[in-house]
Amino acid sequence: MINYKTDIEPHLRGLWPDIFRQYGIEVGDFKGRNTKNSSCPLCGGVDRAHFRDDNGRVSLYCRHCAADSMKSPESVVMEHQNIDFKQFAGDMANYLNLTPIEKRESVKKKNQKVSFSLPSCHKQDPEAAAKFLAKADQRGHFVVKSGHDGSLQGVYIPMYNHLQQLVNIAKVVDDGYRFQAGAISYGAFGIIEGNENVILCNDHRDGLKIHNDTGATVLITFYILNMNFCVYKVPGFDKLKVALTGADKEYFNGFNDVISV
Ligand SMILES: [Zn+2]
Repeated sequence: MINYKTDIEPHLRGLWPDIFRQYGIEVGDFKGRNTKNSSCPLCGGVDRAHFRDDNGRVSLYCRHCAADSMKSPESVVMEHQNIDFKQFAGDMANYLNLTPIEKRESVKKKNQKVSFSLPSCHKQDPEAAAKFLAKADQRGHFVVKSGHDGSLQGVYIPMYNHLQQLVNIAKVVDDGYRFQAGAISYGAFGIIEGNENVILCNDHRDGLKIHNDTGATVLITFYILNMNFCVYKVPGFDKLKVALTGADKEYFNGFNDVISV
């Protein structure tokens, strides 16, 4: 479950003027923390409303419809759009591109166990991975963390098993990947969501190329050993196409259709 207060609201700070604009609400120019008195987007009053920035949250002060108090940015949007909180939070999850993960979590089968045995070097840490994702600041195909100055701090790829349970986080490093759980999770993969055609691939950059060229869903297995494991053990994976580099082809043990990358 994505929690608005902890997972969404902190990431909206500083973005409220843009969010309001998406709904057709113009806040006007700030002078210090406040905008000039102007018309109210809610009550239609012509000159008694202004917005105030408080730590990146932008609230509405209107002497007509919010006399003696203010309206939170959430209330402004809900009242202006006539939507409830659930719908508003869903909008914001979309705005932050959080939807794919939310969808995944809603369908994941929590108590189901992987039915095949995993190699002794398999590692997973669902709690640490969930904690990391909850604090991550930007999610598209991958999780991107940036510093306060906007500089790129890292690219991370959440790993899911075939039961759609989050089990690990892969960090992209110069010579490959480093895993939060201490080692790779066998039978698990990163996901580039696309159409119903599914292709297995070891490298996320090759995966992105394939996805952009074909629209396919690409599952990133990170290493040839995990790809071999997946096509042998994970139900249905023996039927998937696999994309392999020349070097990986030599070590691939499956009977799948192979595309060269
Ligand atoms: Zn008003």
